Amino acid sequence: MVRRYLLLSPGPTPVPQEVLLEGAKETIHHRTPEFVNILKETLEMTKYIFQTQYPVYVLSSSGTGALETAMVNLVNPGEKAIIVNAGKFGERWVDIAKAYGIIPVEIKLPWGAAVTPEMIEKAMKENPDVKVVFTTYSETSTGTVIDLENIAKLTKGTDVILVTDAVSGLLAEPLKMDEWGIDVVVSGSQKGWMLPPGLAFIAVNDKAYAKIEKCTNSRYYFDLRKYKKSAPDNPWTTAVNLIYMLNKAVKMLKEEGIENVWARHKLYGEATRAAISALGLELFSERPGNVLTAVKSPSVPYVPSSNLTKVMRDKYGVTIAAGQEPMKDEIFRISHLGYLTPFDIITGITALEFALSELGYKVEIGKGVKAAEEILFKGLVG
Ligand SMILES: *Cc1c(COP(=O)(O)O)cnc(C)c1O
Repeated sequence: MVRRYLLLSPGPTPVPQEVLLEGAKETIHHRTPEFVNILKETLEMTKYIFQTQYPVYVLSSSGTGALETAMVNLVNPGEKAIIVNAGKFGERWVDIAKAYGIIPVEIKLPWGAAVTPEMIEKAMKENPDVKVVFTTYSETSTGTVIDLENIAKLTKGTDVILVTDAVSGLLAEPLKMDEWGIDVVVSGSQKGWMLPPGLAFIAVNDKAYAKIEKCTNSRYYFDLRKYKKSAPDNPWTTAVNLIYMLNKAVKMLKEEGIENVWARHKLYGEATRAAISALGLELFSERPGNVLTAVKSPSVPYVPSSNLTKVMRDKYGVTIAAGQEPMKDEIFRISHLGYLTPFDIITGITALEFALSELGYKVEIGKGVKAAEEILFKGLVG
């Protein structure tokens, strides 16, 4: 059988031809005025993605590098930080804090739960000495999106800094950094950006930057003071060809319009959720978002998700994600993130129906597809 690979994973995501071809252009020296101008133009445009007027810094790392950057530039060893931990990526904030001797004040929730503004308000009241709150906008391990807009109201106008890991959430979910008053937003190229892995982003407002300047924590490569000082250039060698690609991807996203990008993800999310319930399966998250759909593995008969993802990938060429530890085989995650057409969603659900049937879970072939198509048709045609 012919297979064409389709990435329905929450990173990496598909990259358009137009963007890939930009990456094939000649590598020029990163300190030439020619390249610095490209970098400057690119980062100016990139502010639009964050809906911010403040600087966006680009790092040559995966998303985790931007998480570490946020942590080490804002909190000193021995100080406390409020951290929402409701999945793998919340846990990563905690791990980074601990690695630097920062004391996590955890809002620890079961996987699949969504932190509420009230929970954060309570933690802030109980810990008035804590000046930074770390959240995860879209918890990719569970498919949960939090009410970031209302959470930001708690810190806006106070001396508490709100940081959000929007590595996967940016572009898939509405995010208005300045209007909502989020102080630091981080993201990563292989998620909603239509780019390969390799770049991370951190947008920082003036309130957060004032704190960064006072922070005495040790840092070197990820020292944002160095990035600010070098701007519009980077302190280190920039990933030249990835910047060409970023330039193109942001132009494409701007042309589509950020509201339309958000609407596209919402439509795919709704279609996928409709397909899942039509197939008699259950969503895992209590507040599912439009980055990905996390689904409980079938229990009668039990189909461990690693078997499902293997059949879908090896037989049909469709890559979805199993769960992350400790939920590895208990959930599977279908992403609708990034450069995908409505027909990619249909392909994914078709492959899911085939693979589930093959693994013994009773499926009426076409039932999930029909449910998804009805939503997509209404959204696209009317
Ligand atoms: C992908 C992702 C990250 C970063 O992972 P990397 O592998 O370092 O790129 C961080 N947070 C969330 C929510 C993510 O989805």
